[in-house]
Amino acid sequence: MHVSREESRRKHTEETGHADYVETMYGIVCSACHNYIVIDFTNCQPTCREHEACRQAYASD
Ligand SMILES: [Zn+2]
Ligand SMILES: [Zn+2]
Repeated sequence: MHVSREESRRKHTEETGHADYVETMYGIVCSACHNYIVIDFTNCQPTCREHEACRQAYASD
């Protein structure tokens, strides 16, 4: 379930219509959601709760 930055952007835009992203040294943040949509450390989907890094990066609620 590993995804690239490009795949993540495309998928998020398809699902949400959000098209503005900020590239950081850790991954990509959606400007509309203010959430990471992918982090380079694991390249996991935002739904991943398996890794501590994923939980911290993707936890928003
Ligand atoms: Zn978004
Ligand atoms: Zn993960």
